[in-house]
This record gives sequence, structure tokens and C-alpha cells, in this order.
Amino acid sequence: MPPLSIYLHIPFCTTRCSYCDFNTYTGLEDWIPEYVEALRKDILRWGAYLKKPDVHTVFFGGGTPSLLSAPQVQSIMDALRSVFNIIEGAEVTLEANPGDCSLAHFQRLYQVGITRLSMGIQTFDDAALRALGRRHSAQLAREAVSIAKQAGFESVNFDLIYSLPGQTMDGWRKNLDEALSLRPAHISMYALTLEEDTPMWRDVNRGKLPAPDPDLAADMYELARETLARAGYSHYEISNWAFEGKECRHNLTYWKNLPYIGLGPGAHSSFRDHRFSVIRIPQEYGKWKPEIALGTFPESLKSLSPIDYIEHIDKPLEQAETAILGLRLVKDGVSKTDFAARFGEQVWIELLRKVQVPKEMGLISLDGERLKLTSKGLLLSNEVFWRLLPENAGLTSAIKGLNISPA
Ligand code: SF4
Repeated sequence: MPPLSIYLHIPFCTTRCSYCDFNTYTGLEDWIPEYVEALRKDILRWGAYLKKPDVHTVFFGGGTPSLLSAPQVQSIMDALRSVFNIIEGAEVTLEANPGDCSLAHFQRLYQVGITRLSMGIQTFDDAALRALGRRHSAQLAREAVSIAKQAGFESVNFDLIYSLPGQTMDGWRKNLDEALSLRPAHISMYALTLEEDTPMWRDVNRGKLPAPDPDLAADMYELARETLARAGYSHYEISNWAFEGKECRHNLTYWKNLPYIGLGPGAHSSFRDHRFSVIRIPQEYGKWKPEIALGTFPESLKSLSPIDYIEHIDKPLEQAETAILGLRLVKDGVSKTDFAARFGEQVWIELLRKVQVPKEMGLISLDGERLKLTSKGLLLSNEVFWRLLPENAGLTSAIKGLNISPA
């Protein structure tokens, strides 16, 4: 088995952002100590069951993991280290809200083993931050980055959102310039998605806010690609840029369709030919008790975590998802050598047949070894992806299991 990745969901936020539909809850901060205990028990059950496998990445996502105190993070890390072999040089990321940062807190997080911070900066425009319902200001974001560096973090990611209501190209250019002046090792960038029934979705539907313009969003994406390339960042995934060697190894696990386990309410896993997710309500998660004795997988899931969804991934779906997720990797794409070694030469030939039309449309290129999206394909990737899925598989099935939060 290749080394595992572990995602830990921290489902608490102080306030709810107007665009967010992620599985997170406000007003439950008093309950965090109990939650940490439940999460520790979950970790201990999994580690014992898997007999201390190697783990190469851990990701504290949310929600707002920076609401955890350093001793709480330490107790979770202690539980992990006691039953998993966290390999030398493992990447351990924690998502941080720029409003919750102090030098002492970041120093403690660094000391207990966090190696990478992912900052939910979103934008450096204070009016836009207010419209998004974020608690921090642009100045707090700048200070948080400086504090992270002082605390010793070399790997810092910025989450940025573009195509915000009313945002102009000029405004977006200023955001990019400001972000680049702070030299983060990694930048994740997503166009605003209006999730149904969020306050921002309602405001757009009532005409209180302008709807995002997809053409402007495409222009903003192009500007980001050019600007970040000039600044020395490698565009390694559709929505992600990094300095060489600073790519997010945890998210690469998702994009390479390799095994990961998600613990905590609503977290998804992809493991031993199955995708499954945990019940979404934190209090139910906290109260849950294992029901039956451990057995073979996947029956044993019922005694490991409170699972509410499980899907068997058959070979055709695994092949299709590996191709779709791999095509998200802008630089590497899908390698013929790796793909054929994993699934066989015949499956690679079948993949080439399926991408023939997108290739003729100029969305895909093949340089002999690597199948990649072209610049045009990056903007129209769904045109390629749906052709790769087996019949009856939903378009979202390749991405619905990714523990990537909007924070
Ligand atoms: S966007 Fe992030 S910080 Fe805001 S409510 Fe959602 S999870 Fe919490």
C-alpha cells in the first residue's frame, strides 16, 4: 500500500461566511474539547486496525482549524503518532483564519509538528471581505503572513477567490500584486461559486448583488496565469500555483487518485476500492459508539467511524477518475508510463480513443508520454471530463470525494 494521507475535519467557525455551504457550525466552540476527544478515538481505532501504516501527509481542514488551541492540536498529533508511522519529512498542513493568529499560537503550532499553513485570505479588498462575511481585514491578513514567517513557517499557502461581486480586472490585478508582494510559497485560486441557499446566492437572486460574469472570470484566470508565471510560480494544477518543490503533497494525493482517509464529520475517504463519508452532524459524531467487532473491509467500517455513505469504485470508474483527476495536473497531466503500469496498456489505448474528439477540438495535447489539457482545455475542462466517465456515472463523481474546503 502506498503511504496514506489523512484529512481531519474541524467543523467549527466563529461566524458563517455568506458564500459558504461547507460542513461547519457556529456557536459550538464550548464543545471543541469533547470533539477533540472523539476525533482522537477515531484516529486510534483506524491506526490500530491498519496496523500502524506509513502516513506522508496530514491536513487539518475546516471549518476553522486555527480555532483549536496548540495543546488540542498537540493531543491530536500525539494520537496520530501513536498509531500511524508519520514518515520523516511528512507534510502537516493546518488551515488558518487570518483573524485568529498570534505569534505565540503559530510558534506552538510549529513546535507540535505543523509544517505548513494554509491561510484563508480570499482577497485584500476590505469591502469585498465584508461582503463575503469574513471576520478578518486585509491588514490582519498581511500581519498573519508576517507572523507565520516569524514563527518559522516556510510553506504558506494563500487561498484567494476571484470573480467576486463587483470586482473589476483592475481590482483583481491589485489583489494579485499584493499577494505576490508577500511571496507565499503556494497560491490556491478559485472563482467564486454561488452555492444554493447561501446568503450570497440569495442576494444575487434578489438582484442585491451582481451575478458573476463567466467571461470576466475567464479573463481574470488568464491574468492570474500570466502574472504568476512571471513571478516564478509553477502552475501545477488547474487552480494551484507553487514555487518549485512547494506543491501541496496532500492535495496531490487526491489528484493522483491515491488512498486517503478522512476523519471527522462530513469527511470523505478513498480507500481499498471504496469511497465513503462520515455523518455530517458533529454532536452525533461525538456520541457515536462502534457497533460490531472488527472484521474484513468494508464491513469493518461500521466499527471504525460513523459512516453514512459508501460507494464501491469499480475498475472502469477508478480508471476514468484517475484520468480526470490527473488531467487537472497542468504540468504533469496523465503519464502514459504511470497510467499503463497501474491499469494496463490496453486501458491507455482506450483512454486515447476517448480523448480523440477533445484533441481535435484543441482541448487536449499528447506529447508522446503525457496527456495534458491545453490552455483552452483548462477553461473548458468539463468538455473533456464527461467523455471519460463510464455510462451512468455522474460528472461530479470524480470530485465529490475531495476534502477541499472553501476556507
Ligand atoms: S468559508 Fe471557511 S471560515 Fe467561512 S464559514 Fe466557511 S469554512 Fe468557515
